[in-house]
Amino acid sequence: MSEGGESTNSGDVLTPEQRSLCMSRIRSRDTKPEILIRRALFARGYRYRLHDRKRPGRPDIVFPGRRALILIHGCFWHAHGCHLSATPATRREFWENKLRENRARDSRALSALSLAGWRVLIVWECALRGKGRQDPVAVIDACERFLNHPEMREAVIEGWRSGVAGLRLESPS
Ligand SMILES: [Zn+2]
Repeated sequence: MSEGGESTNSGDVLTPEQRSLCMSRIRSRDTKPEILIRRALFARGYRYRLHDRKRPGRPDIVFPGRRALILIHGCFWHAHGCHLSATPATRREFWENKLRENRARDSRALSALSLAGWRVLIVWECALRGKGRQDPVAVIDACERFLNHPEMREAVIEGWRSGVAGLRLESPS
């Protein structure tokens, strides 16, 4: 059995810089941090569903037996507020509205998931990319701790920045 949901990326003509920009700004599915996390968890024996359309917000990685799921949030699209999520200087009003809508939708999806009894781990892109990134093995270890501790209802993993613990395996504020 191999990990599902992969697509080969033939005809890729972007420079690494362009590709990285595309990944952070455009793609909301199958982003690099998401692939890293699900492959590592798969290698550790975890099995899951991807992009479950039946659940609010179409969560990225779903563990039905554990009633748990992992959302990999791109910092820009989900308006994290970290250094990877600066609002573009042009068409500022458009982007502010767009990102505000995205945040509101995330918040509704989280409430719905929680009401339906799901445990939710949010892994922000900056946990694995950019200047605040953490050791990937530590991030995967933290994902595994979340999966194995049913008392953890909500948890957050994000990049290091001042005033932020980075890895909070308890309710987010
Ligand atoms: Zn971030």
